[in-house]
Amino acid sequence: MRVAVISDIHGNWHALDAVLHALGEERPDAVWCLGDVVGYGPRPNECCGAVAERADHGLCGNHDLGVLGEIDLRSFTDDAATSAAWTQRVLSEDARLYLASLEPSAEVPDAGAALYHASPLDPVWEYVLSEETARAALAATSAPLVLVGHSHVPLAISQNGGAVQGELAPGGTEIELTERRWLLNPGSVGQPRDGDPRAAYLLLDLETRFASFRRVAYSIADTQRELRECGLPEALAARLEHGV
Ligand code: ZN
Repeated sequence: MRVAVISDIHGNWHALDAVLHALGEERPDAVWCLGDVVGYGPRPNECCGAVAERADHGLCGNHDLGVLGEIDLRSFTDDAATSAAWTQRVLSEDARLYLASLEPSAEVPDAGAALYHASPLDPVWEYVLSEETARAALAATSAPLVLVGHSHVPLAISQNGGAVQGELAPGGTEIELTERRWLLNPGSVGQPRDGDPRAAYLLLDLETRFASFRRVAYSIADTQRELRECGLPEALAARLEHGV
């Protein structure tokens, strides 16, 4: 089975559309989404509609829960809270119902995979960005393959006995998923933070045990224009072209 993993779309329709076009050529058997479909970006309803239609497994993230009113927006940064409050005002009923149907974690036992928006220890908030947090995350689940989003940084971390090793996984990284256990983060579709502004996604081949970290260019200027038209914070537009 070939699976495309997407995460942290954040209402960036042009980035999601570019990834979905790429997937149209790749034709994976399934699409899994690790959450944060909305928040920050100007097109939450279109992103919810497309993810609801395409994703076989979908999670909610902290921004989705903030928009649903299940997390107090005072726990967000100023720009995140401003955009979440804006998203609450424009969110369609269909999009709201879709987000409300999601959980921040899921198991896919057939694939030996456990999916978390953030981490196994805290599926909503914990950032897995160090070997220490990765070690604790891997210890908290027995799944051979652990998929997380939330940090917006693509990562490939492996565990071999007691040893945990990890690295950033820039576009073009290809990894053989050997007997070891793996924790992978596909990076972010709609707001990458690893210095590469292109939309990120991950392709998994669960038969040949192969992971391929992909990037696809999209019209950043179109999303920036929409952000400005919606009156959303300028910093959210500026950061997209730097991938931070
Ligand atoms: Zn996010």
